[in-house]
Amino acid sequence: MTQTKKENLEQEQIQITSQFHSSYAQEAVNRSNLEASTEIDNHQPVHLTEANDQEDLLDEQGQSVKKPQRSCIACRQKFDSHQLLRFVLDPMGQLWVDIFRKAPGRGANLCFKQKCVQLAIKKKAFSHAFKQNVLHPSIEDLYIQIVQAIDRKIFDQIALAGRKRTVISGLNLLESLAPKLKLLICTTDCALSSKEQIKKKINCDMVDFSDSQTLGHLLGKDKRVILGFEELDTANHLRTLLTYRSEILAKPSF
Ligand SMILES: [Zn+2]
Repeated sequence: MTQTKKENLEQEQIQITSQFHSSYAQEAVNRSNLEASTEIDNHQPVHLTEANDQEDLLDEQGQSVKKPQRSCIACRQKFDSHQLLRFVLDPMGQLWVDIFRKAPGRGANLCFKQKCVQLAIKKKAFSHAFKQNVLHPSIEDLYIQIVQAIDRKIFDQIALAGRKRTVISGLNLLESLAPKLKLLICTTDCALSSKEQIKKKINCDMVDFSDSQTLGHLLGKDKRVILGFEELDTANHLRTLLTYRSEILAKPSF
């Protein structure tokens, strides 16, 4: 890829991601509220669909059952469906990322990994999966759609952690709870001095993501420049998603 193309992609990504972050932040808050209320209500068995894939499926007695598994069309490995991107075709045969995993009709699943995206395109895996000639968006647009899907999952995780009260914000509180923290997310508009201060005092991974207004909104608060996560599972899940995100953005070798 030429340098100009890469710069254009990065610029377009910044604009689209910014719009996406503000528009989906509210949706993620609503979704986390729904999921939190689901957790509290133990009397109603809940039948989660593919779209609502953050929790285990529950049977009639509310017992956890195995999550549905799907194969990646590129590497053919099986994963829980929520660990894969779902793609669908519109009536014109154009390929789209199904961010919410609930569009009707046939779907094709793919890893978030950049190498699987490239492999799927190289071996025409989408056309094989849909048993028809698939019109691909440009690879740049495909990457943007994938990053948006990843961002949405990250928003969901942050909003849900907020409802569980396992997210720490505020520099003083972060410092005082430093030994408990498993991951820090620092917004791209955080002052360098604040970032350096936290880095010196907290021995914990720090990843840059989103902006302070969006992250504050996800937690029902004012702007938040650095978030700390206490739960190991949440931190690991976020770390994985953020790694896929940076991989897609940093090395679009096409
Ligand atoms: Zn794969």
